[in-house]
Amino acid sequence: MTSKQYRPPMPQPCPFCGKATGLEVHYGQPNQEGVELAKEGKILLGGCPIGPQSPKWQCTACGNTWGKWEAKK
Ligand SMILES: [Zn+2]
Repeated sequence: MTSKQYRPPMPQPCPFCGKATGLEVHYGQPNQEGVELAKEGKILLGGCPIGPQSPKWQCTACGNTWGKWEAKK
């Protein structure tokens, strides 16, 4: 086991509509793995550089966004 495959978290319940369809949003240039995960509907790609207002979760049912990425230092 040398591959360090990223395991996306389970979809989170949306605080707005209540469906468990909140996917983790990833920012920046995705690698091949990120692209594949996004195609499989396991994560979302935020595209733009991450900012202080960038949400961590987005609901695929209603589009609601919430949460925050912890700043890495
Ligand atoms: Zn929702």
